Amino acid sequence: MEFNCVRDCSQCCIEREYYPTKKFGKVGVLILGEEKERIESLARAHKIKLRILPRIGVSYENQLGPDRIIAYQMMGREQNGNTCPFLDTESTERSSHNGFVCKIYDQRPLACRAYPLIENDPPTLDSKCKFCQNGQTATGNLGGETEAIIQIKSKMATGAPIIWRYATGTGEAEDMPQIRKGWIRDLTL
Ligand code: SF4
Ligand code: SF4
Repeated sequence: MEFNCVRDCSQCCIEREYYPTKKFGKVGVLILGEEKERIESLARAHKIKLRILPRIGVSYENQLGPDRIIAYQMMGREQNGNTCPFLDTESTERSSHNGFVCKIYDQRPLACRAYPLIENDPPTLDSKCKFCQNGQTATGNLGGETEAIIQIKSKMATGAPIIWRYATGTGEAEDMPQIRKGWIRDLTL
């Protein structure tokens, strides 16, 4: 079956999740180091205020924090971390599946090009995507998504032995006592 967005859906541009656990806060859209300047420049052109935080860092011997940041994250514009700043929720314009329009669709980050594919071998879709929640599975029509996820993986593969994940300090008001902010050493990417 081919993948197609569910009519009216904009869920993946709005809802942000706690990842990998609540302690780390809600994550933003993954932005590779090489994408950061381009996305910031697009935000300036559209007069959009961005909040970009670090996401993943690596170190070789340093046990206190990362030596190098390999990925950032673009936080949602709402206080609870939801809603991408580039999602146009004001206009009446709609995407081909009648969702809200992305103001930088043709220049969106690789993470947005990959979604809802979260693994290419074997192809695996994010179970939170509305398409999957409707009980569908897709194996076709994922060429662009596959290309994007392969690129992301190759840029994130540093071989560094120590991985750090940045806790965003962002989430729902009632969850704030459990949410941390700053670098936390993590075992997985
Ligand atoms: S990728 Fe999934 S969650 Fe995102 S708009 Fe399409 S159907 Fe909705
Ligand atoms: S950049 Fe565009 S596609 Fe990506 S999350 Fe934001 S609105 Fe959605």
